[in-house]
Amino acid sequence: MDQPLMTIDLHPEIREEVKKLCAKFPGEYWRKLDQVRGYPTEFINALTEAGYLGALIPEEYGGAGLPLSATSAILETIHAEGCNAAACHAQMYIMGAILKHGSEEQKRKYLPGIATGQLRLQAFGVTEPTSGTDTTSLRTFARREGDHYVVNGQKVWTSRAEHSDLMLLLARTTPRGEEKKKTDGLSTFIVDMKAALGNGLTIRPIRTMMNHNSCEVFFDNMIVPAENLVGEEGKGFRYILDGMNAERLLIASESIGDAKWFTAKSVAYANERRVFGRPIGQNQGIQFPIAKAYAQMRAAELLVREGCRKFEAGEHCGEEANVAKMLAADAAWAAAEACIQTHGGFGFAEEYDIERKFRETRLYQVAPISTNLILSYVAEHVLGMPRSY
Ligand SMILES: Cc1cc2nc3c(=O)[nH]c(=O)nc-3n(C[C@H](O)[C@H](O)[C@H](O)COP(=O)(O)OP(=O)(O)OC[C@H]3O[C@@H](n4cnc5c(N)ncnc54)[C@H](O)[C@@H]3O)c2cc1C
Repeated sequence: MDQPLMTIDLHPEIREEVKKLCAKFPGEYWRKLDQVRGYPTEFINALTEAGYLGALIPEEYGGAGLPLSATSAILETIHAEGCNAAACHAQMYIMGAILKHGSEEQKRKYLPGIATGQLRLQAFGVTEPTSGTDTTSLRTFARREGDHYVVNGQKVWTSRAEHSDLMLLLARTTPRGEEKKKTDGLSTFIVDMKAALGNGLTIRPIRTMMNHNSCEVFFDNMIVPAENLVGEEGKGFRYILDGMNAERLLIASESIGDAKWFTAKSVAYANERRVFGRPIGQNQGIQFPIAKAYAQMRAAELLVREGCRKFEAGEHCGEEANVAKMLAADAAWAAAEACIQTHGGFGFAEEYDIERKFRETRLYQVAPISTNLILSYVAEHVLGMPRSY
């Protein structure tokens, strides 16, 4: 029989190297961090030294210049090996806004440091408490005063804010109602968080059900030099949208990895655990949920690969990226459910790592975009039904 749980067909060397790196960070490492909601500094340093965080940055700016499918393979493998890339995945794709829309000066200033990991660009300030999913109604305002902007407002769920040097911030630069189109009037800035901390920037961690280092972030007359504006003023929402397909395909890859990890655990335990004098895996009631989640994962995996292929070919991949993200998150959740059920009581014991992964994998039905909003996208933009909001 082939190895069904690994299905290595793209970038096998990268997968093998990432697997070796992950072996140095076993469940015990993640369990300890989970208890104190700690940041996996050693793991991130190891990924940085191996050059993985600069995977998508072109070689001319010090990165590895790898395609999206290779980055997808890195993140999928990290998750399939029981590790978690949430502490750094944003470093891989947020920089896309600078790469695609930044000035040559900004690229030379920031990308080499981001590629080596000396500069952490891991904070992405989009979501606000009042606007939620409705990004174009955000209120954080950046007012131009001579050679700088003065920023006031608040963000929520800004992950890794305490562990990042830079933040990509989306703020309003034209008062609401005065913009020509709802999607205009928002601008993207690179914020030097270390310089701003205590000078108009306040960060407050939010304790969540899993270890995700998410924060509330407050701006009180925070100064951002005008040279830190990315691209044109008022076009920031488009720049953020531009990067979303890559983000969705990469998060979907993590969910595929999670689904593989859960399924491997389920199969091993179902084969080994004997109750009523036979392996529990001999019962179809145990087999079928595991097999079904596996089938869901395989379908989602194909769509992730197709999305990456289109992205790399410069084709529009909004449908694939959105649907892959939803199906992969669903497959991971189905595999998580099957895994905890297969393990009976032991699934709830911390030392098995299942309950931790179970909590971690649940997030991707909500963030970075919730299932409902993906269904709206498919209904309206793919199938041509009327807008619901
Ligand atoms: C752990 C964590 C980390 C995150 N990290 C970041 C980050 O780094 N940066 C960042 O900017 N954001 C981040 N987010 C925010 C995340 O992207 C949002 O939580 C998500 O987009 C949903 O927004 P919301 O929480 O405001 O929900 P809301 O917009 O309030 O929605 C609540 C529910 O209503 C549903 N809903 C809303 N409108 C509609 C509609 N028209 N039709 C049908 N259903 C609808 C939604 O699907 C959702 O289920 C993070 C969130 C979490 C939990």
